[in-house]
Formats: sequence, C-alpha cells, structure tokens
Amino acid sequence: MRKIFIGILLLMAAEVTHAQHAVVKTITDDIITISPGRKQLHTLGWPNDIINSVAVKTSDGIVLIDTQNSPANARLIKKAIRDKFNDSTFVYIINTHGHSCHSGGNCVFDKNRIVAQANSLAEIKDYDDLFLGQTVDFLRQKIYHKNNILDTISIEGELSDSIKQAIDLYKFYEADLMENYKARYPDLTFKDSLQLEAGNKTFKLTYMGKGHGNADIVVYIKEDNVLCTGNLFHLGSYSEEGMPSFYLNRPNEIEKWIDALNKILSPGYSIENVITTHGKKPLKRRNLEFVNAYCKKVVEQVKKSKKENLPVEAVQQMDNFEELFEEYSDVVSVNKKSKEMHARNMGIIWQYID
Ligand SMILES: [Zn+2]
Ligand SMILES: [Zn+2]
Repeated sequence: MRKIFIGILLLMAAEVTHAQHAVVKTITDDIITISPGRKQLHTLGWPNDIINSVAVKTSDGIVLIDTQNSPANARLIKKAIRDKFNDSTFVYIINTHGHSCHSGGNCVFDKNRIVAQANSLAEIKDYDDLFLGQTVDFLRQKIYHKNNILDTISIEGELSDSIKQAIDLYKFYEADLMENYKARYPDLTFKDSLQLEAGNKTFKLTYMGKGHGNADIVVYIKEDNVLCTGNLFHLGSYSEEGMPSFYLNRPNEIEKWIDALNKILSPGYSIENVITTHGKKPLKRRNLEFVNAYCKKVVEQVKKSKKENLPVEAVQQMDNFEELFEEYSDVVSVNKKSKEMHARNMGIIWQYID
C-alpha cells in the first residue's frame, strides 16, 4: 500500500511532457479534418488509430463534427481550427453518435448547441458511468499500473508505444477531472433526419439505424459534396475501411441502413468525399454503393437461407458474395480480414432478420 502511495505521489509530480500538436488536412476550401498528432491507441479501452474531427467554415462561423475523446484533445483541435480559419465562433457542434471518441470533448463547447440523434443521450450516459465519470484516484491507479507494466518491458516497440499512449490519455483525463470536467449531453436531438442551415451551408443529418451503435448518423454538407460517416464504415483496419462496422451483441437494423443508404445515394446527394472519424483518408461515393449493395445481398441471402432451413454457416461463407466483391474489387478486397468481418457480420445480422 505504501509503495502504491509513493508511486502515485511520484506520478503527481511528473507532468504530461509530450507536447501535443494537431494534424490538419484540407478536404475542400471550407472543410478540414483535425486530429491529435500523437496517437492515443487506447481510447479508454477502444482501439482507434486516429480520431478525426471535421470543421466546416460557414459564413456564420464554424460547424464542428465530433469532439474527440477528451476535453484536452477538444481544446487542441479548437485551437487548430482558430489558427486555420481565423474564426472561433461555433454555430453547431454535431456528434455522429454518443461513443466517447465522438462526444468526449463536448464540454469544451459549453456555450454552443450540441446536435445528435436522440439515442445518443443513453450512449453518453453509458460511457459516463463506465469511464468519464471516474475519480482522479481511479485514473492515478491506472497510470501507476500502466507505468509498472512499462517498467517490465525492456524493448521499445509497438507494445511500449501503446502503453505510453494509454498513460497519456489517462493523464489527460486526470487533468480534465481536476478542472471539473463533466460529460456534456446534446441539447438538440432528432429521430430520423434533420436539416440545419448555418450561413451559406446546408447540413443534412440522417439516422442510419442500429448496427455500430444505437445513434449513428451521417452528415451531408451539400455545398461541398462531403458526407461525414462517423464510425459506420471503419473498424480500425486500413484495407477494409469500406466494410460496415457492425458490433457483436448490439441490435442490428440492417433494413433501416438500406433505406438510409438509398436516400444518401439518391440524386439529391452529390458525394465526392466520405470522411470517416477513424479513417486515414476519405472514402468515395463508390464505397457507399458497395455497402448498400452488400447490405441488400446480406438481407436477401439470410432470408433465403432461413426459408430453406439452412444454418447460419450457410451465409457466413463467402460463396454467394464472391460476385459482389468482384464487382466492387476497386474499393474492397476479399482477404482474411474481410472474410472474418463478413462471418462476424452474418452471425449478428442472422438474429435480427426473420
Ligand atoms: Zn462508436
Ligand atoms: Zn469511434
């Protein structure tokens, strides 16, 4: 116990020494993505290589999509936006859903309206209960524990890097808690769709249905032909970015996804860039066309197999999907990873289609 206490005291004396910088990427003249320059692989347990926030410059001020995983990182991107656009007026803050890496920095925008799908309130509460509402003591013990592990590793590499990243993030949260950080909930919510006007720009928000989480939306910025898709099509892997990210043990509304994708791919939406929160580069309209075709095929095959009393394994094989993947081989490939994702997707969706 004494040892733990001394360790904690030492940690309190140590400062967060890694100077942070933001990486800014230009998508169009008025749209940038911003992410913290130092990776924080362990977003309190969730493995994400990168967290992109999207800032849109309008004639009335900035619209920001996703607020990072912590207030410290939110402040970092807020500064980068001011440096880039010479503007610190925020019109709307949009959360693509309630998971922590999309809403964890909401409190930094305490004077601004936060917009999200209604189910995100429960998602944020879940995360608040699990992680964000923790005590300083809890975080200090985590830091102490991670430092102990770090001490046992003699070779610098991927493992030591990821532990250092986790320590960084816990330190950020510790500093945030010391400043009385609290989770901030959206104050403008909607069910299926919402159109926002901000100066010279139009934002169309569409709820996708349950699958990744319970509150995922896409945000279409009409004047720039850009669609922001949050966490829907990315699971942290690079080559399979276009595969939908359905999660184990979460309800799935794939037929709602198809309806939403039909709408997004209709002539009213001209899409050139698709920005994902955890992707390293924008996807294209073609990736969405693949997801739409894939979801339709999934529903068709599951219904057919159930009608013929076949087991779930019948659709977990790629056999009946090979032609589809061939047609879209320019945006998705059949390999070990995509096969695993497909089998897992089928295992989930099977439970939700009659
Ligand atoms: Zn998520
Ligand atoms: Zn995420």
